[in-house]
Amino acid sequence: MAKTVHIIGAGISGLSAAVRLANAGFSVHVHEATQQAGGRCRSYFDAATNLTIDNGNHLLLSGNRHALAYARSIGTEAGLVGPQRAQFPFVDLASGQRWQLDLGDSRLPLWVFDKARRVPDTGLRDYLALMPLIWAAPSRLVGDAIPCEGTLYRRLVQPLLLAALNVDPPEGSAGLAGAVVRETLLAGGQACRPLIARDGLSAVLVEPAIQLLRGKGASIQFGHELREFALSAGRISELKFGTDAVVVAPDDAVILAVPPRPAAGLLPGLKTPTKFRAIVNAHFRFDPPKDMPPLIGVVGGLVEWLFAFPQRLSVTISNGDRLVELPREELAQAIWRDVCAAAGVKGDLPPWQIVRERRATFEATPEQNALRPGAATALKNLFLAGDWTDTGLPATIEGSVRSGDRAADLVLARRP
Ligand SMILES: Cc1cc2nc3c(=O)[nH]c(=O)nc-3n(C[C@H](O)[C@H](O)[C@H](O)COP(=O)(O)OP(=O)(O)OC[C@H]3O[C@@H](n4cnc5c(N)ncnc54)[C@H](O)[C@@H]3O)c2cc1C
Repeated sequence: MAKTVHIIGAGISGLSAAVRLANAGFSVHVHEATQQAGGRCRSYFDAATNLTIDNGNHLLLSGNRHALAYARSIGTEAGLVGPQRAQFPFVDLASGQRWQLDLGDSRLPLWVFDKARRVPDTGLRDYLALMPLIWAAPSRLVGDAIPCEGTLYRRLVQPLLLAALNVDPPEGSAGLAGAVVRETLLAGGQACRPLIARDGLSAVLVEPAIQLLRGKGASIQFGHELREFALSAGRISELKFGTDAVVVAPDDAVILAVPPRPAAGLLPGLKTPTKFRAIVNAHFRFDPPKDMPPLIGVVGGLVEWLFAFPQRLSVTISNGDRLVELPREELAQAIWRDVCAAAGVKGDLPPWQIVRERRATFEATPEQNALRPGAATALKNLFLAGDWTDTGLPATIEGSVRSGDRAADLVLARRP
């Protein structure tokens, strides 16, 4: 008889673990507290714009190999779309200057040697000054490892690290930043192609996983919030969901793939990150100009990244705690002004939506990074997953999938 695994939480980490274990022949039961899978990576219909939008624009890079393998395993790798080459158009709203960073398609970062392809007004020496980041300890600050000023910082390092860490880069963990740089910039253009779920996060990364799981006989229960565990002999023996309870047999395993706060509530004494940062996304119902690239990096303004989707322009602003209390209309107007300048469009504020995810990611500082637990726990049949567990990466889809894969591998390793 197939072994049984209970997966608590149907975010990307829970789904990636579920898919891996269902493919390995396990009987999989997914329990999700809300009515929708995807967690912090999901789509929904928005009445204000009359469009299906994502809770946040999610950018993947072609070097995110676990995330891509996950998409491949659910048959949707082709749904992650982007340009053929790792090219990033940028605009500086303060000066009006535009440029394109062209990382090429090599496995080596050869672009830094080519003046025409690197950031304008930067020299090789600026890039060499980033070397200390590559193998920096997680306890070190980015601000202590590399220069956080100057043209290269302002035009490339700051936008990249702000997006990856979701904190002001100087206060971020140099170890986490180094992992991002090693797996992307240092791995050459072939690892840096920007990829976007153009048809929506749920259509590309969530729903196909649910369908695959159901096709393999897995159960997925929504509105099924785990409230408590019962323990016996150093393992979980029962899952209590409020209205019902599920017995966990001695050979069964449980993967807890919930955010840090519910995880700490369920497992008293568990060390988890305790501080979080917001990400603000704004969506405008507006047809992008025909020749507009799918992604533009924006510096010198409020907006940081501008995405062109069918019928919609969307922006991302990281480390957004300063914006969460601003009146929504005022924020929408300010962002729309930046969008017009960056996209080269004109017009009154079109139908819009602002999504402020207050606890979008844990704070990727050395202090908070030190609070991340591994996947194994003191309980023999309980494993942890989630972007906040100790993946070596900041809170990203790649880290989330990696954590799910690692928890699944530990469950697989328990097999006789
Ligand atoms: C606005 C925004 C923009 C982002 N942009 C990017 C990006 O550009 N690139 C990138 O790589 N990453 C990005 N991220 C990060 C990425 O979304 C996350 O790293 C990833 O989705 C986290 O997945 P997870 O499974 O670890 O956690 P979650 O998505 O939080 O999933 C946890 C699940 O557990 C459920 N749950 C909680 N408690 C219980 C319980 N007691 N019982 C049952 N279920 C429970 C929750 O409802 C949820 O579905 C962004 C995040 C946000 C919010």
